[in-house]
Amino acid sequence: MLQTAPPNADLTGRESEFDVELRKVFKVFNGETAVRGVEFGIRRGEFFSILGPSGCGKTTTLRLIGGFEMPSAGEVMIRGQSMTQVPAYRRPVNTVFQSYALFDHMNVRDNIGFGLRLKNLSKAEIQRRVDEVLELVKLEPLASRFPKQLSGGQRQRVALARALVNRPAVLLLDEPLGALDLKLRKQMQYELSSLHQDLGVTFVMVTHDQEEALSMSDRIAVMRDGRIEQIGTPQEIYDAPKTPFIADFIGDTNLFEGHVERCDATALVIRTNAGLELLVDRSQADQTERLDRGSAVVVSVRPEKIDLHLYPTETTHNTFEGRLAHTMYLGTHIQFTIKLTSGAVLTVRQPSNLAEHPALNTPVFVSWSPTHSLALAAG
Ligand code: ATP
Repeated sequence: MLQTAPPNADLTGRESEFDVELRKVFKVFNGETAVRGVEFGIRRGEFFSILGPSGCGKTTTLRLIGGFEMPSAGEVMIRGQSMTQVPAYRRPVNTVFQSYALFDHMNVRDNIGFGLRLKNLSKAEIQRRVDEVLELVKLEPLASRFPKQLSGGQRQRVALARALVNRPAVLLLDEPLGALDLKLRKQMQYELSSLHQDLGVTFVMVTHDQEEALSMSDRIAVMRDGRIEQIGTPQEIYDAPKTPFIADFIGDTNLFEGHVERCDATALVIRTNAGLELLVDRSQADQTERLDRGSAVVVSVRPEKIDLHLYPTETTHNTFEGRLAHTMYLGTHIQFTIKLTSGAVLTVRQPSNLAEHPALNTPVFVSWSPTHSLALAAG
């Protein structure tokens, strides 16, 4: 079993609850703030992802943990110790870069052992540890090949092995699967998750791929404009996004802008800007901001929560007529684009074994339950 760095106690002798902790961290580059007061704690053994659109500050946040950047303000803690005075090479972390950064003139074995040779470990110890990780990432048969003789997935495994051979407390992964094609990416997602489970090492991964983050992580921090917009489990982020930005960024959704027309103890009635009346269950109203009559809101309805009917339904709320504008076959599902009579365009997803398929341009009816939509305060 691969060993990792021993846990450190902080100056008070207490063991920290977190492997990595960011305390109100800011990073300013030439007057431009890339990271704005980011705060979070990553628990030991967690698979934690930092997700967000291009330029939101996720790589900078990872580099601040790795020590490749120093905070302009705030503090990075690893295992209870401040990293302010600790350079990158002395931190108990290793990084796997998207580019892999392998040495072309060294074979797989030498690439993996490179860091250990710098540490002046004995030849026998280096060989033992390299063998251990070669087995872990299933690269033993390729140990004497050079990077150019490897596939993308194999190169990615060498990069992983090279980081893991140092037995880091925390493994930092910067878009680790970004250079792989879709099929290989799926396979490596599975391998990376299994490796994480087997090792129990804390993984911190940066990705802009929401599906990747949802499928692999214990928790996800979604960043926007240098700030953390929400931290939660994949299910919390998907089912209970805190803001319209998260609802839109994570998975597909239909968003309706409008305002609260009426509300009581059980439901909110929302009037959308296009004139639709939507009913949202009270339990699905914004948990952080209080919504009252007149509040500007965005209603989010996931495509898979909408039912499609060929005939009018008996339900009286959240049911609308439209025409089928487009059909897209997605394997297990079919995605329908529906143009409502009001002009709004809806995306609806149904299992592909649906009994009856509507034809293009035919009238259709959509409906959804008040518990299957979310009303969020407009940003
Ligand atoms: P991407 O997904 O495109 O890699 P990101 O979310 O990882 O984006 P960062 O690379 O962290 O974003 O960049 C955040 C902001 O900081 C960007 O506006 C970027 O231009 C800026 N930035 C990052 N590194 C530097 C640097 N070394 N010097 C100046 N500006 C930088």
